[in-house]
Amino acid sequence: MDKAIFKTINSGQFILGENLENLENKIAKLVGVRYAVGVNSGTDALFLSMKALGIKKGDEVITTPFTFISTAEVIANCGAKPVFVDIDPQTYNIDPSKIERAITQKTKAIIPVHLYGQMADMASILKIAKRHRLKVVEDAAQAIGSKQKIKKRGGLAGSLGNLNCFSFFPTKNLGAYGDAGMVTTNNKQLAEKLISMRNHGSKRKYYYDFLGYSTRLDELQAAILLAKIPHIKSWNKKRREIATFYNKNLSQIAGLTVPQITRDNYHVFHQYTIRTKRRDELSRYLKKEGIPTTTYYPEPLHLQPAFKYLGYRKNAFPESERASREVISLPLYPELKGQDQIKVMDAIKSFFK
Ligand SMILES: *Cc1c(COP(=O)(O)O)cnc(C)c1O
Repeated sequence: MDKAIFKTINSGQFILGENLENLENKIAKLVGVRYAVGVNSGTDALFLSMKALGIKKGDEVITTPFTFISTAEVIANCGAKPVFVDIDPQTYNIDPSKIERAITQKTKAIIPVHLYGQMADMASILKIAKRHRLKVVEDAAQAIGSKQKIKKRGGLAGSLGNLNCFSFFPTKNLGAYGDAGMVTTNNKQLAEKLISMRNHGSKRKYYYDFLGYSTRLDELQAAILLAKIPHIKSWNKKRREIATFYNKNLSQIAGLTVPQITRDNYHVFHQYTIRTKRRDELSRYLKKEGIPTTTYYPEPLHLQPAFKYLGYRKNAFPESERASREVISLPLYPELKGQDQIKVMDAIKSFFK
């Protein structure tokens, strides 16, 4: 990584160079799509996807309220209306059985989020999208390398929607040393549009076909990601091993629910998230024991002041609200030592005793 960083600095090429091109090819191959377009962040990947699909004022886009702000923020920033649909309490992902009743004449797209590293039920979502002629944009920010068995098609995260988005925020399974993101697609026209759009609507320097944005994945971040990419599969595997250890030791505890892996899913455990009615108490106890935990996410988006104008009330999405009160993510990353895994497990056992 040091070598790659110095090589980039010495090359003098910091924006739109060969590192990015190599990275885009590697990600496209990893995800199993034809095109990958690097941008400045996962948020920008989502925003440009909305723009490239022509989402605008008067349109509605369906997503989950139990996600990071970006997913719904980009819909609103295009002038469109985010329409929330509650989650499945087993997976914390959008519940496909509730999507159709949220569709109106104005609905243009669905953004499923693969929360914590497990894919949303894409077979059902793609079927609904086809029936209603809606676009699908996967928010795969937390799910690089995860997959799902789907009838005819290969089911890797980031290969199933019209456009699909990854984040390389430092904490993600594949993390840069700063901000970075990418859009993946099999659609050549959309890929070309995104390539212009990320660079001021320009194909040729100082000539502009339309008004675009300034959001590129820079050469230093690309160099860092290129050095990390050969390890992503083994890192994900390590995450899964630690999750299996936690599952085995925590699943018998009354009052606590371990992550539920639905059939045909390859979960990459961006987060290992358990749920308990005693969440806040548990979090305080673990902190005292020197074990850091986080809640993703303590307040669902429909209750945030930023989305107050949408007019949603408390209890609009009971499963998302319950999850916000009950979930807590335990330490899990590829380098987490065996003795630290045992420490986490013992602390949780003693809390519930
Ligand atoms: C991290 C994340 C994003 C945003 O990615 P950034 O690179 O931080 O802009 C979007 N959606 C989800 C679900 C995320 O976890």
